[in-house]
Amino acid sequence: DSLDILITELSRIRPAELLLPPDLARSKHWENFYLTQRESKTFKTSSLRERFEEQEEVFREFPVATKAANGLWHYILDTSPGIEPSHILQIKTYRPEQWMLLDPWTRRNLELTESLRGKEKKGTLLAVLDYTKTAFGGRLLRRWIEQPLLKKKDIERRLNFVEALVEDSFLRGDLMTLFQKVFDLERLMSKVSYGTANARDLLSLTQTLSVLPQIRVCLAREEMFQNFLLALDGLDNLAETLEKAVNPDAPTSLREGNLIKEGYSQEIDELRSVSSGGKAWVAQLESQERERTGIRSLKVGYNKVFGYYIEVTHANSHLVPEEYIRKQTLTNAERFITPELKEYEQKILGAEDKIVQLEYQLFLEIREMVREYTPKILKAAQALAELDVYASLAEAAVCNHYTRPEISIEGSLHIIEGRHPVVEAMLPGTFVPNDTFLTPEKHLALITGPNMAGKSTYMRQVAIINLMAQIGSFVPAQKAHIPIADRIFTRVGASDDLASGQSTFMVEMYEVAHILRYVTDKSLVILDEVGRGTATYDGLSIAWAVTEYLVTQEIKPKTLFATHYHELTDLEEIHEGIVNLHVGVREYGEEIIFLHKIIPGRADRSYGIQVAKLAGLPNPLLQRAKIILHELESASQENRRDSLLDKNPIQLALFDVQPLDPLLQEVSELSLEDITPRQALDYLFDLQERIRSK
Ligand code: ADP
Repeated sequence: DSLDILITELSRIRPAELLLPPDLARSKHWENFYLTQRESKTFKTSSLRERFEEQEEVFREFPVATKAANGLWHYILDTSPGIEPSHILQIKTYRPEQWMLLDPWTRRNLELTESLRGKEKKGTLLAVLDYTKTAFGGRLLRRWIEQPLLKKKDIERRLNFVEALVEDSFLRGDLMTLFQKVFDLERLMSKVSYGTANARDLLSLTQTLSVLPQIRVCLAREEMFQNFLLALDGLDNLAETLEKAVNPDAPTSLREGNLIKEGYSQEIDELRSVSSGGKAWVAQLESQERERTGIRSLKVGYNKVFGYYIEVTHANSHLVPEEYIRKQTLTNAERFITPELKEYEQKILGAEDKIVQLEYQLFLEIREMVREYTPKILKAAQALAELDVYASLAEAAVCNHYTRPEISIEGSLHIIEGRHPVVEAMLPGTFVPNDTFLTPEKHLALITGPNMAGKSTYMRQVAIINLMAQIGSFVPAQKAHIPIADRIFTRVGASDDLASGQSTFMVEMYEVAHILRYVTDKSLVILDEVGRGTATYDGLSIAWAVTEYLVTQEIKPKTLFATHYHELTDLEEIHEGIVNLHVGVREYGEEIIFLHKIIPGRADRSYGIQVAKLAGLPNPLLQRAKIILHELESASQENRRDSLLDKNPIQLALFDVQPLDPLLQEVSELSLEDITPRQALDYLFDLQERIRSK
């Protein structure tokens, strides 16, 4: 089981790389990951414990995780030699049971952060909820969606912040505008820590820090945000220093100067005036020499090889004064120097070299100073990320007309006019809302209705609303009462897992087995068709038995089960826990219109042929299908229903004895001792006759 949890966690985290000792690396479990083998000894000890000595209790409490952390720490040090990763501030631990464990199928099926088809953000819950303005806010929102909460108190805390920002639209708007100016502090600080941050990075940091006072002013307006103020305080001096120090037009390179703003260093300013004084002198030299020599096209230029020079075209070479020293001949011009020019060149270039050198030194000092603020800045980043997510959830709630869910520890799941947040976004104005009511007693809804009626959409919508509530978001419903689910399970559709070589049916059964194994009273289970991947009777039997299992066992999870096996709807009559629902359809003669409305009761027909017609199958074929359907229905329906219904499910499954054929019955009851050979032979002839005429 812990392996199961580990794989589930890995599929959520999607690490870029797994570090493993050789003996573990051979296991098949990691097939889908990029592996790096590391020597076993790197997992045993490292400088980790010294570096984080104040966290000794973590090492004691998590001895196995400490090994993993050792391995990781070695790897970090090995891959960045000579650099101290100072942006790594502490070791944080968590246990998977802190959050709702979402298995990989469920995360995929509900399209939380990645769409089924395109594997992209578009068309996901994340896309609908994401109004974050900062990079780290975006990352945090994704994490929240993938790790719904389990404690009422924690959920309510988030809901309170979201509600405050829903209600104060000015505050929300102001914050969102300010967040737009916030750069990715986490990334910036890791660059600072690794010594790769350039002047532009520090400018981004400066801009971000200088927004903090305004954010604090906004937050101060609402009592409940007071706690965030502290985290965003204490960085104003740094912002001010950086503002004064770093040149707003600094280049990306650190070796070209222009990093430091005027007025920050006296030494640099002096050198600059020497250098620029020199430059002015050169400019003035040009006009002076033009006048003196009468060469109107005379130019003073500079190149890296010869330094400063005077250029005269061949046409004017007879006018060149004697003291010019020839340096280079080009196709149509000649270049000269003079001792005077060289003297100034020394002065200018010397000063420039020194400036570049000095600016570089100074920049490193500033960067080091910033580095010392790492813990403080990262703390501010966390606070900003959280605020950004609250604002984002509030904005989504307002834009999409969500409401605050009521959260309870147990009880009924009750949703009034619920909507699917993603499908609704694609069908603006035409989405049909639906209610949901599952109680601890009536906890399994069997949903029937034709294909394309909206069964999957409905069930996913319930799961997503439940999940949204547990991340602390408002929900797309008029009203929602959500008992906290420990897990949400889904088994949806049949997609062949070709890569792993498992058949559709096998995958389906595997998923069902997984659900039945881990489900509890507090779970929400979505079953979208069970038993479809095999022959009809096989499939029906399995679907039937799964339904019975879910309502007759001790554990009674809230379940939505969509099925095309109409036979299952009869189960409502014998099991208290089951309620039938169907999706409304309006018929116009041969045509049907989907109403997308969930209605109590069973669907009387499956409308498969009408759906086939909508899809454009040829008419004669449809007529033929109708005839076949009619025959099949009248032949088998009655027998099957009766034989299945009046028996206890367990007996039915295992010990049911088929009634004997009347002829066999007759033969078995014949008392052979009492008849003559002649009678026996006659009986045999008669028997053969009757069998043949049957
Ligand atoms: P089923 O599972 O019954 O085959 P789906 O849930 O896949 O049907 O729905 C089919 C299509 O019907 C969806 O793609 C969507 O466009 C539309 N639809 C579903 N539910 C609704 C609804 N409540 N309101 C409007 N359109 C809906």
